[in-house]
Amino acid sequence: MAAYDPGMDTPPVCVWLKRDLRVVDNAALAAAVDRSRGGAVFAVFLYEPEVLGQPEWDASHTEFQRECLLDLEPALATRGIRLVTRRGEAVAMLERLRIETGFRLLFAHEETGTGVTYARDRRVRRWAREAGVEFVELPQTGVVRRLASRNGWNRTWEQRMEAPQAVVPRSTGRGGSDAIRRLDSARILGCGDLGLAPESRERQRGGEPAAVDVLDDFLSRRGRHYAGGISSPLSAPTSCSRLSPYLAFGAISMRRVWQASEARRLEVAAAASLTSQPRERVELKAWQRSLKAMQSRLHWHCHFMQKLEDEPAIESCNMLRAADGLREDEISAERLAAWQAGRTGYPLVDACMRSLLATGWLTFRMRSLLVSFASYSLWLHWRPTGLHLARHFLDFEPGIHWSQMQMQSGTTGINTLRIYNPTKQALDQDPRGTFIRRWLPELTGVPAAHVHMPWTMPHDTQVAAGCVIGREYPPPIVDHAMAVRAAKRRLAAVRNGREARAEARAVAQRHGSRRDRRGAMQQDPVRRTLAAGHGDADGGVPAADRQTLLPFAEGSPEDGPGG
Ligand SMILES: Cc1cc2nc3c(=O)[nH]c(=O)nc-3n(C[C@H](O)[C@H](O)[C@H](O)COP(=O)(O)OP(=O)(O)OC[C@H]3O[C@@H](n4cnc5c(N)ncnc54)[C@H](O)[C@@H]3O)c2cc1C
Repeated sequence: MAAYDPGMDTPPVCVWLKRDLRVVDNAALAAAVDRSRGGAVFAVFLYEPEVLGQPEWDASHTEFQRECLLDLEPALATRGIRLVTRRGEAVAMLERLRIETGFRLLFAHEETGTGVTYARDRRVRRWAREAGVEFVELPQTGVVRRLASRNGWNRTWEQRMEAPQAVVPRSTGRGGSDAIRRLDSARILGCGDLGLAPESRERQRGGEPAAVDVLDDFLSRRGRHYAGGISSPLSAPTSCSRLSPYLAFGAISMRRVWQASEARRLEVAAAASLTSQPRERVELKAWQRSLKAMQSRLHWHCHFMQKLEDEPAIESCNMLRAADGLREDEISAERLAAWQAGRTGYPLVDACMRSLLATGWLTFRMRSLLVSFASYSLWLHWRPTGLHLARHFLDFEPGIHWSQMQMQSGTTGINTLRIYNPTKQALDQDPRGTFIRRWLPELTGVPAAHVHMPWTMPHDTQVAAGCVIGREYPPPIVDHAMAVRAAKRRLAAVRNGREARAEARAVAQRHGSRRDRRGAMQQDPVRRTLAAGHGDADGGVPAADRQTLLPFAEGSPEDGPGG
């Protein structure tokens, strides 16, 4: 390791890349070039054993990240910035780089991550203070660090989304460039290099150019059908934006997505007001509403992440502590294994799980169905089920994920409980059993009349269909109706307690969304339609829906997917 000679020249500036694998609108890179004052700029990406060893981490995350880095390296090079990768613990690696290059200024983006990355970031901050390194962490979403109150949060979010995007100029500083050139680099690593089992998913490709293609395709074409298409697992893969893994790995910035979607929405609105064709006007207005609905979910993204930022413990502790002890001691390994493998005997639940295992993605409503079934019908604690989903969601984003896991399991205290009936969902969202048959080949020959409830097939029909229950496909693992009755009793005992209600009010004060001037709940046209009792979108419950809704604590703007 060649040590830097402090007498030589202006020190270089280091950018520590984490979940911000892009050059466009990368405030950390832009600030580094801006502050370099004759010093060269280099970027470092760390393969940290403690991050790769987390139970949430999966080989597909490594491969997606690798694809992002492969695109990023030449994009940085054209801006005069070398990408260096190292394998090891963050403080040790940064300290070595400091000794080798003499950097005194380190930029990164703020991260709202797991307990492991939270503790790591605290260690890095302590190290920087002791080593005399100025460590500047910049926001990249609407999440506010050290937030005192949720009041006014929506306005801050809007200001950040409307602010100009950060431009990364070419770095021309020479100071420290010889030391940077001499640095060893571990290159860009994949699963094989890191000792991880190879992945076998048919997933989205990583990288900033791929993110831009997905965004452009959504805005120019697919987004037209967003509002009506996001619930059914048949239409959702093309109707949804599919931007989630790119946002999670920072291959595209939230601000860039928001600004591009707003420009497109205004374009569509202008076309709607100009056309003389009534039918076209109706269609364009629906398109405009669809884009607005997607934009409000960008707001929810940060709203949920803010909860983990404000209370890191919620990745493993119930938000409502009165719910402690509800499920912890009763985890049935057999039920968990059946749910994880997609072998519960409820076809839509199983098809969703198997499709997730194969592709790394599911639409919101089907994620909710999986969690509702696990938490209420199987009475499984949200932590082990959440870890399984985190590993398989390519877009795993801790702040959204753990908040949603708790919300869909009834442990926040501020949300209406939404218990999905898996058979009703199957009939509504996949009436012909197309999705079910695609992912459960053992049900291919089952007649349409039985595909949603194969256990109702007479034995002769089972034999003729090549699907004998208990042999090719399991019988229902529980009686859903009975299981839900028991779940409701147990939850009611918790939620009706006076202490639980007082605690729920405190949770709402700390984490609840506010209905201020242009708050997310009011912005979402899909939710407004649902509130009026019609329509069909994610998380919404049409009046005739027989899903079970239990009010929990007082009515709250948290209800629905945006809570
Ligand atoms: C139990 C559970 C766990 C989840 N875990 C994650 C996760 O780890 N990572 C993740 O990105 N999303 C998570 N979601 C939210 C949501 O299901 C996904 O964001 C969405 O399905 C991703 O597909 P998309 O990009 O096409 O979304 P779109 O519908 O096109 O939405 C655009 C973007 O808005 C954000 N978004 C959408 N829906 C939500 C929502 N309900 N809450 C917060 N943000 C939202 C995402 O960033 C998404 O990419 C979870 C939902 C549930 C019910």
